[in-house]
Amino acid sequence: MKVAVVGAGAMGSLFGGLLAESGAEVWLVDIWKAHVDAVNLSGLQIEREGHTRTIRLHATTDPAEVEHSDLVIVFVKSTHTGDAARTAKILAGQRGLVLTLQNGMGNADRIAQDVDAGKVIAGTTSYGATMLGPGKIRHAGIGLTTIGMWHSGDTGRAGPVADFFSKAGIETEVVEDVRSIVWGKLLINVGINAITALTGIKNGQILDLEATVALSGAAVEEAATIAEAQNITVRKDVVAHVLDVARATAGNRSSMGQDVDNRRLTEIEAINGVVVKEAERLGIPAPVNRTLTALVETLQAHFQ
Ligand code: NAD
Repeated sequence: MKVAVVGAGAMGSLFGGLLAESGAEVWLVDIWKAHVDAVNLSGLQIEREGHTRTIRLHATTDPAEVEHSDLVIVFVKSTHTGDAARTAKILAGQRGLVLTLQNGMGNADRIAQDVDAGKVIAGTTSYGATMLGPGKIRHAGIGLTTIGMWHSGDTGRAGPVADFFSKAGIETEVVEDVRSIVWGKLLINVGINAITALTGIKNGQILDLEATVALSGAAVEEAATIAEAQNITVRKDVVAHVLDVARATAGNRSSMGQDVDNRRLTEIEAINGVVVKEAERLGIPAPVNRTLTALVETLQAHFQ
């Protein structure tokens, strides 16, 4: 299978690297020239538990260099999904599938505006990665990847993609109701990301104070109500589950926290912002998510 990855930062490089290591032809497509040049010159370096290995694969800033791909993986931050969707359409051509494993809600719908909706696959992954510098990433988390066709209730063409990933060591399962899976990850991000971004704390420190536990729970409950109003299946213990995730990732700074630390635009619009938008559409109040969204938007509006 020929694969193109649009947005080859931490996660795109990780997935691209693992698929290339298993023998696939992989092209990393990114606008970050220094990273592309480093990968072409010296290979992609993946650090894992203190060991670094080097993987050879193609990288380019010019999508025209890549001929049509069987699978295009979109791994930009959600703030850049529109641009990436236009690139994905060109790379996928007539027959290629387009997969998003990005965080937040709205990415698959945005991609489906450019790409034939029947070819869009969405999902979530428990893998984690950090960008160390041009040509070098750290592979952090490992775990299950779950995917499904975004616009049909059956498993459609997602099965061969899951098999292909699993053979590369990325354990992947296919579900029919992928929207509930993507909402499930969204609820975790809703309960952790904005709070840690605004306060500078690590994920586990949410548990230290009753005030942050209550704030996280209120944001998650609001979002869960909105999900259920759209027939999304939400686990009964969702508030406790989000706190369990915060505990399990206690030492981590959330991705939104890291974005704020580095004065980069965050994915707030695709996380708490989506809850606010859907709440307005459905006529359901969402004051906690509205406040968290407004505060993060204020913070990032003043980055120089
Ligand atoms: P990142 O910032 O490391 O990588 C994004 C890359 O996209 C950058 O290299 C950037 O140059 C590139 N880019 C931006 N616009 C582009 C365009 N138009 N065309 C091509 N490339 C473009 O981000 P990341 O941490 O890899 O996260 C990507 C997505 O995965 C996000 O939605 C994030 O929430 C999600 N995610 C991240 C992790 C993690 O551990 N990092 C885990 C799960 C999910």
